[in-house]
Amino acid sequence: MFNGKTALVTGASRGIGKAIALELAASGANVAVNYSGSAQKAEEVAAACRDQGVKAFSVQADVAVEEDVKAMIKEVTDQFGQLDILINNAGITRDNLLMRMREEDWDAVLDTNLKGVYHCAKSASRQMMKQRSGKIVNISSVVGVMGNAGQANYSAAKAGVLGLTKSLAREFAPRNIQVNAVAPGFIETEMTEELDEKTQESLLQSIPLGRLGEAREVARAVRFLASGDADYMTGQTLQIDGGMVMH
Ligand code: NAD
Repeated sequence: MFNGKTALVTGASRGIGKAIALELAASGANVAVNYSGSAQKAEEVAAACRDQGVKAFSVQADVAVEEDVKAMIKEVTDQFGQLDILINNAGITRDNLLMRMREEDWDAVLDTNLKGVYHCAKSASRQMMKQRSGKIVNISSVVGVMGNAGQANYSAAKAGVLGLTKSLAREFAPRNIQVNAVAPGFIETEMTEELDEKTQESLLQSIPLGRLGEAREVARAVRFLASGDADYMTGQTLQIDGGMVMH
């Protein structure tokens, strides 16, 4: 599916990002595995990608820091010679009710989850414009569509990602760069493990399909949007949420 194509996945040392990196590698893409924390975990993901017979390496960058992102995109294009697919997956939560939410928690979530997408899309699209093709897939959340008490910062950032996706889709369409989003619902990862049992139980009640999603179910939707099968789609959001939100 992706033979000869190269992809960068942000925040890919665990969870959904890891599943995306492995899914793209299994479909033949060379993969750059971005991380901001543990180099060892990211290197393990890169090694698992190489086991699929593709080229892969890990690359450090805090997506919230412009200089880090510029250096990362340079390293990817230096190593691979091109950049065809950017998956903006890196994300954090700093949950609290608004009255208790500290400004630093607001800023940290907006900086990583929204500004990070801006930095990565800006730097990557310079290269994609030269190539006159590219695919950008942004990982939003159903929380960005429906809101969630205790997640004002996260829902604002994820809703912002949807607006950014649509604007970039329009801006980049003449250059043959498609920009789409995936909005996962409640997916079993280390991020959701942090939720208390009561919240997990009430979230489960709101899922018509009656179970949590798996990271690889999100990864498959991302793979589709990153592929030629989605050449005539741009500015769209695929919800992978077991039916939590229906329009
Ligand atoms: P996770 O916490 O397991 O993984 C997030 C990854 O992003 C980690 O590897 C982390 O190191 C990395 N990261 C964080 N800040 C970074 C930064 N500044 N620069 C680079 N990397 C950074 O979470 P996950 O559940 O795998 O979530 C992945 C994405 O999916 C996130 O954007 C999240 O908001 C979104 N999402 C998750 C769920 C869910 O239920 N798990 C639902 C909807 C959306």
